[in-house]
Amino acid sequence: MSGVMVIAEIKEGKVKKSSFEVTAAARSLCDQSGAEVSVALAGSGVEGLAGEFGTYGADKVYLLDDPKLQPYSTDGFTAALARLIEEKSPDAVLAGNSILARDLLPRLAARLGSGLMTDCIEISIEDGHLTGLYPVYGSKARAKARCAGEKPHFATIRPNVIAAEAADPPRSAAVEKVAPALEAVRTTVLDNIRETGGKVELTEASVIVSGGRGVKNAENFKILEELAAVLGAAIGASRVAVDSGWRSHADQVGQTGKVVNPRLYIACGISGSVQHLAGMGTSRTIVAINSDPEAPIFEKADYGIVGDLFTVVPLLTEELKKALDN
Ligand SMILES: Cc1cc2nc3c(=O)[nH]c(=O)nc-3n(C[C@H](O)[C@H](O)[C@H](O)COP(=O)(O)OP(=O)(O)OC[C@H]3O[C@@H](n4cnc5c(N)ncnc54)[C@H](O)[C@@H]3O)c2cc1C
Repeated sequence: MSGVMVIAEIKEGKVKKSSFEVTAAARSLCDQSGAEVSVALAGSGVEGLAGEFGTYGADKVYLLDDPKLQPYSTDGFTAALARLIEEKSPDAVLAGNSILARDLLPRLAARLGSGLMTDCIEISIEDGHLTGLYPVYGSKARAKARCAGEKPHFATIRPNVIAAEAADPPRSAAVEKVAPALEAVRTTVLDNIRETGGKVELTEASVIVSGGRGVKNAENFKILEELAAVLGAAIGASRVAVDSGWRSHADQVGQTGKVVNPRLYIACGISGSVQHLAGMGTSRTIVAINSDPEAPIFEKADYGIVGDLFTVVPLLTEELKKALDN
């Protein structure tokens, strides 16, 4: 095995937690064979971030630092990273399953004539092939797949599945500057219009408070926001809440929204449709608050509270505030 390359992602000047999780996953893959874990760090003015990856087990960081790589463009990153991957020939290329990775990795895999597995919750090397396990049918079953054909094989890993644990022993990753191949780039990004500035990003959040039709209107989401503020949580929503105009589409969890994987998911006034479960079914602990004891969400929930969310949520907020203040 010649090694595993991690594609790092930067958000607002910081490395995303999922990039460290993927580096830790790459380290455990390579520990079996002693192969090299490398990280491709692309952006502008990002040299200062390279040193962090050694902690999670990277041996090397390839630094592609160029003003044309900030902000992200599909064109620029594909050109720069395809050339790097061709030159370094890793066996596998991994990234966190983010919006950026879902845009970039299919292009890279197609350009290099290889295969991609997305949203894996486990990865391994079996018979020399990158092998991934991922949820299917709304998290009701798990499929195991492996990439065939030419290496490198590509995969994205669901955030919050693998802990971003410091490698033992930590390494001091060597930094190699690489001039990115940007001659063929045809795109200039003029502006990024952000809808979610300053909020905890849903796909990376370790706690999510989510609301559905039971919340009844946009104004009432305030009580969920108060609970979220106490827990440092992100706010999610069912499609009904989004289609009703109470929350933006960026908050939608589910089959046609975001796939999330927090440590704690609190579903308030959400029935638990298969389409909603497809987006949050792998959350580590699920708490459901619903006035209907027959609501399907209770079949999936670890803890269920049968009650009116307008009574239960403020009580929960108050009690958690007290508990966390102590
Ligand atoms: C192709 C397709 C894709 C879809 N994609 C998604 C998706 O990505 N995400 C998604 O969420 N849905 C999606 N849906 C829609 C999905 O089928 C459901 O309609 C939706 O998830 C239901 O949302 P809900 O649970 O908020 O509403 P409901 O199913 O109406 O449930 C509301 C719940 O609130 C409870 N309730 C009411 N009042 C209170 C109260 N005061 N206190 C406590 N509980 C209360 C009720 O008992 C009920 O269980 C999709 C559907 C299709 C066909």
